[in-house]
Amino acid sequence: MRYRAYSRSNFRSIPQLARLTEEQKNDIEIVSQVLPFKVNNFVIENLINWDDVPDDPIFSLTFPRREMLLPHHYDEISRLVRQGADRKQIRQAANRIRMELNPNPDGQMEYNVPELDGQPIPGMQHKYEQTVLFFPSRGQTCHAYCTFCFRWPQFAGMRELRFTSHRVEALVEYLTRHPEVNDVLITGGDPLVMSAGKIGAVIEPLINADLPGLRRIRIGTKSLTYWPYRFLSDDDSSELLELFGRVVRSGLHLAVMAHFNHPNELSSPVVRKAIARIRQTKATVRTQAPLVRHINDSPAVWRRMWNEQVNLGCIPYYMFVARDTGAHHYFSVPLARAWKIFREAYSNVSGLGRTVRGPSMSADPGKVHIVGVTEVKGEKVFVLRLLQGRNPEWVDRPFFAEYDEWATWFSELRPAFGRERFFFEDELEREYPHRAGMPTFVDLAKE
Ligand SMILES: *Cc1c(COP(=O)(O)O)cnc(C)c1O
Ligand code: SF4
Repeated sequence: MRYRAYSRSNFRSIPQLARLTEEQKNDIEIVSQVLPFKVNNFVIENLINWDDVPDDPIFSLTFPRREMLLPHHYDEISRLVRQGADRKQIRQAANRIRMELNPNPDGQMEYNVPELDGQPIPGMQHKYEQTVLFFPSRGQTCHAYCTFCFRWPQFAGMRELRFTSHRVEALVEYLTRHPEVNDVLITGGDPLVMSAGKIGAVIEPLINADLPGLRRIRIGTKSLTYWPYRFLSDDDSSELLELFGRVVRSGLHLAVMAHFNHPNELSSPVVRKAIARIRQTKATVRTQAPLVRHINDSPAVWRRMWNEQVNLGCIPYYMFVARDTGAHHYFSVPLARAWKIFREAYSNVSGLGRTVRGPSMSADPGKVHIVGVTEVKGEKVFVLRLLQGRNPEWVDRPFFAEYDEWATWFSELRPAFGRERFFFEDELEREYPHRAGMPTFVDLAKE
């Protein structure tokens, strides 16, 4: 199958869009000036049920719509387009709006950048003791874009994070000096947009360096649903799977961290075949996704998804809370409701599906798990714990926040029982001061 991508410049040629009104098509054009938009022939022909558009979940996952911008932002871009403003003017307005959409939630780019001899190594993050994230330059795009994507500024015309091959050497050098790191997570974007050769150029040095701590390699990807031919019939699909096999034979655990948002993605026979091909290499497939309104905010959807994943030999891993960035106003689900959805789905799957954890928020102190809502001495509270923490000592200690029916992110929560701060906050401020002067996400993107 030949890959055909559609974006703002050519989406009107998608035959199925004949079903949309002219107004809906204009909205796609306007919203995609600000938020990233890319879709391809596989998604259009196999994952979207066009009889259900615009409510179809995969359509909402990939096609922008008017409500994804705040009304005043929509109006501003719409006015410029109507007035025939030039591209530069529209881009300037779009960039300003992007800066208002919290493009760098929780300082994910500047607070976790590791250093070698006092020099930051951009394109890597090291937040939790055991795991380093690596963002290869060529993997900072995807086969299609999710409308809720929290990495969206990387795609939205602000220039990519750049790496050259010496960055892989920096990764190897860093791992040599940090034997406490057991896992490398190669992520993006989607690193599997890269050729097998380019992925090999990242992975082979890790295998060959005989690193003291490295035991596991993970690859974060959405290719299983956005382009499953990556594992079946692309020119280098065999080469890619051979690389997977080589990682496993070298004695490392290889985990494909697959991103699935909806069970409809798993019903495609092509996707199922791709999962089977990966499993033949003895890599494991673990699954994760954010909970997002208009796409998967129902217990039945998650239950079906986890059941189907287990049937296909995948291991459900995380349900995330959508980050407070981009079109968050459109996609966010209140934490209280997120927990209800999780609980109702989780309590109705077999134990084999209960490997999943969530809902989890990747916040500054760590991954904050909403364990549940309860009452303590007449006060309604959220019970929380950290699944990962900047300090491993913080992990798995229950703590409490005042119940708030409408809170959608950790930053909106206050400690319960009249306390001033959560138990980790003093240490967080002392030991992990937000490093002024470090490059910001947007600076890095311009580098
Ligand atoms: C989620 C995450 C990891 C991986 O955590 P696991 O619980 O081991 O899956 C690593 N680094 C960062 C920054 C993360 O957000
Ligand atoms: S696959 Fe991941 S990185 Fe790519 S657009 Fe979707 S959420 Fe963003």
